[in-house]
Amino acid sequence: MKTPVCDSDLKSGELCPSCEKKIADGRMTKLDFEVARILYKINDRYNISNASFYKAIDLGRVVLILTKGEAGLLIGKQGKIVSEISSSLGKKVRIAEATGDVKKTIADIITPARLLGINHAFHEGKEITKVRIARADIAHLPLDIGSLETVLRSLVEQDVKLVFE
Ligand SMILES: [Zn+2]
Repeated sequence: MKTPVCDSDLKSGELCPSCEKKIADGRMTKLDFEVARILYKINDRYNISNASFYKAIDLGRVVLILTKGEAGLLIGKQGKIVSEISSSLGKKVRIAEATGDVKKTIADIITPARLLGINHAFHEGKEITKVRIARADIAHLPLDIGSLETVLRSLVEQDVKLVFE
């Protein structure tokens, strides 16, 4: 099973210095570690060894779990796996695939707000990603604008600005 945390940390439940550094740098979050640990335990009972857990994103009412593999594997038969994750986290969980298609992943994150498109632009000499959303959908964003920009920045690994049209 692939996770952002190293295997020995999953076993021990403690973060090694190199994974601690990932958290300090913002490349990984405490939530990623928590979800990775839950998946590690679930893997004892259900075989999800082929799962590829990429990132967990707290969207307030729901935690979005991004996988680089098939979403179906982390959903499980009749949703068994996803409901185990959900009861361990004490929150609703949604599984989405983070494939090469960043646009689709962003659309999944901002849902039920609709994504109009993505543009790349330069701002003060740095490339930024502009995420275009319909002005009428501001009320439908899963998080406030600042938090959402932070979440998307960690995903696309460059500055993100939400633009409402
Ligand atoms: Zn580690």
